[in-house]
Amino acid sequence: MNASPAQRAALLAAARGLTDARLNVGTAGNASLRLARGFLVTPSGMAAEACTPNDMVEVDRDGSAGGRRAPSSEWQLHRDIYAAFPAAGAVLHAHSPFATALACQRREIPPFHYMIARFGGSTVRCAPYATFGTQALSDAAVAALQDRSACLLANHGMVVHGRDPAHALALAIEFETLCEQYWRSCQLGPPALLSAAEMAEVVERFRWYGKPQASGGR
Ligand code: 13P
Ligand code: ZN
Repeated sequence: MNASPAQRAALLAAARGLTDARLNVGTAGNASLRLARGFLVTPSGMAAEACTPNDMVEVDRDGSAGGRRAPSSEWQLHRDIYAAFPAAGAVLHAHSPFATALACQRREIPPFHYMIARFGGSTVRCAPYATFGTQALSDAAVAALQDRSACLLANHGMVVHGRDPAHALALAIEFETLCEQYWRSCQLGPPALLSAAEMAEVVERFRWYGKPQASGGR
């Protein structure tokens, strides 16, 4: 394996980005990026601001870790997301305020806003509760992430995957913003929801939205 210095720096930057955006506080949450034969993950029980690039931990597919730190207690969750979703290049987990508030209600996020489609479909699911750092939690999250790039974890927080750490960080911030918007809208009563046909159209438009030389759908 052997992660490059650039990979170590990029992972730490994303972990610090979660803290800077107030998605994580203290040692809550974790982050990883895919390596050729495993992944690089943040160390367990350390705040991102206290870490250096060399504190990032390499973990092989079989779970064996190298380096001076213990890997995140959620290493199975990170490993299993890379195994299940070939497009995932980075995984972020956060206990962000609004996503966590909704996860404590064990609520799926419905199509209250078209941007929900950014995460692959017309809802963002909430995985059933399981203890942190367990295979059961990983299994629940992988099931909730089918055809999606984000999910809530009941009574815990959120998980997002993206192409690389910067992309995953941007998605995590967008998802937390949507959770805040949903929460605010719910204060006024149940929000009006988009139909399956309206959401299918948006999912289709997201195939080309933001891509260079965008074509179609105009
Ligand atoms: P780690 O510090 O072990 O990554 O755990 C934080 C966390 O959020 C567990 O779910
Ligand atoms: Zn957690």
